Amino acid sequence: MREESGMKKSDRKRGGDWRQFLGFFKKVKLSWRWILLALAVSIAYYAAVSFVPGSTAALYAGDFGMAAIMGLVLNYVCTLVLSLVTSISRLIAESKSVRSVRNSVWKRMIGVKAEYYDEHDPGRLLSAVTSDAETTVTSLIAVIIMIPSLIMYLVMCLAQISMYNRKLLAVLFVLVPAYIAYGFFMGRWMFGTGRAVQMRIGGLTGFLTERIRNLLLIKSFAAEKKEVEKGVAAAEGLYKANVQYQYITGVQVAFTFVTEAVGIVTAVLWGCHLLQNGEIDLEAWLAFFLFVPMINTVLRQLAMMWSNIKEVQGRASRMSEIMDAPQEAQNPQAVETVPEGNVVFEKVCFSYVKDKPVLQNMDLVIPHGKTTAIVGVSGSGKTTVLKLLEQLYVPDSGRITIDGTDIRGLNLQSFRNCLSYVTQDAAMFGGTVRECLTYGVHREVRDEEILEAAKKAEIYEYIMAQPDGLETELAIAGRRLSGGQRQRLVIARELLKKADILLMDEPTSALDAETAAAVSNTIFREFQGKTIIMVTHELNFISEADQIIVMNHGRLEGCGTHRELLASCGSYRGLVEEQSYQEVFAQ
Ligand code: ADP
Repeated sequence: MREESGMKKSDRKRGGDWRQFLGFFKKVKLSWRWILLALAVSIAYYAAVSFVPGSTAALYAGDFGMAAIMGLVLNYVCTLVLSLVTSISRLIAESKSVRSVRNSVWKRMIGVKAEYYDEHDPGRLLSAVTSDAETTVTSLIAVIIMIPSLIMYLVMCLAQISMYNRKLLAVLFVLVPAYIAYGFFMGRWMFGTGRAVQMRIGGLTGFLTERIRNLLLIKSFAAEKKEVEKGVAAAEGLYKANVQYQYITGVQVAFTFVTEAVGIVTAVLWGCHLLQNGEIDLEAWLAFFLFVPMINTVLRQLAMMWSNIKEVQGRASRMSEIMDAPQEAQNPQAVETVPEGNVVFEKVCFSYVKDKPVLQNMDLVIPHGKTTAIVGVSGSGKTTVLKLLEQLYVPDSGRITIDGTDIRGLNLQSFRNCLSYVTQDAAMFGGTVRECLTYGVHREVRDEEILEAAKKAEIYEYIMAQPDGLETELAIAGRRLSGGQRQRLVIARELLKKADILLMDEPTSALDAETAAAVSNTIFREFQGKTIIMVTHELNFISEADQIIVMNHGRLEGCGTHRELLASCGSYRGLVEEQSYQEVFAQ
């Protein structure tokens, strides 16, 4: 889907970026203790298995002595125990490592700069945490354990064969080149297919998450049929990638059959030839015949390791991108205490996209403890002012200060704890009413305090009317609540947070006029004395604000009180007239 087509062509050609791949595994923590244990036991297992043909051949050749029988039995018992221990330790290593990688990727996804998600749909990245982590880590651990084990196994087998007669090793001249070619071509193919499968899974997950989240929108536009078709198309993409994957697997199986057949025929012919010439005896021939399929398997598995590595690389590439995504900078010399005072924008310039300025030389003074309304036509940069203040984005030039201190010099966590953000859609998570009200409140809060805040926000009666009170489960994102109830819950949450600066982005625009007036009264009453910065077009708020900032296409058009601006700012008068007109007609 989108990301796949966005995959760098150079990556496809080179078959992946090795530095990024290795860097990824440096950034995550694998459970090395368990991996090394599994590796050690696996090597011991393969060493034990390599003795099986020798002891079996002796029996086949007629040696029924106690030592030969006991040797074989002991050999089988050892391999059984070692195989069990390998499987268990490998499973533990995998589970622990998958958990750790998931946690690391999730941590990076949360810590990433907001701008990263302007270009990457978070929904599509979710499968990096769910499926990519599992498949990648499991395959990688298989590679780490299997390569040394198989090499060890091969060396042991070859050493034992050469003890019978070195000429037997000539069979390698046929098998080795075949497997090298196989490994090389499969590897390239696997990388592309591994990545395509991950991208398609990501695309499908992102698509479904977005659609289910906006189910009401789909229904109100009667777009179910179209969405079903789009979902089917997204699933079809994954199906095709999976078919290609299975196709490669099919080629692998076919190749396996052919090389095994060639190997065995070569071994039989070559062995018979040496036997006829009297260079080996029957036991050596039998042992050789038993060793050849094993060598075949080892070589095939080793060749597959290359394709497995490429597959892991393909599957890990999206997680690597997330791990490399720019993180919010934590300034080591950051100041913990956030000063109180005026918020000042000094010649702030900002653009989301290069050469498309959104704010141009903004000079603003937002007085401490007062209410400032930001008004302007849509797209003039009002919300961007709030985002810059929150440090979700960083100005291209200029600076933002509080009481003279550049906000970039403040500890990000402490700074954000001093801010509250109320949005138009009253964003909240599911969970109980208590969890919703105390979200982001980093201190112990007693029930009385919660209920007091609920009373102030005028949502107390609603909570008390619920059978479980504060323990009432809200549906996901408070879906069963009305817009006014959600906004009141958010106000109660902000009251508990006790932030110094309140950022509000059209907090009442989704509400009907009566509810909007009631909610705005609550805001003015309860947050008196706080620094409130509110993007709004409601006359209610505008006329009550201590200061109004008028913006137009990223520039400051005017600043002052309602009266001052009515007298001095033409575009403000225009906005007010338009708003009054709308409000009259809304009644
Ligand atoms: P307002 O709040 O005044 O309606 P915004 O601050 O939301 O305006 O947006 C100002 C301009 O920046 C608009 O042209 C908008 O399209 C653009 N913009 C907003 N967010 C982004 C973003 N994440 N990436 C790119 N452009 C953006």
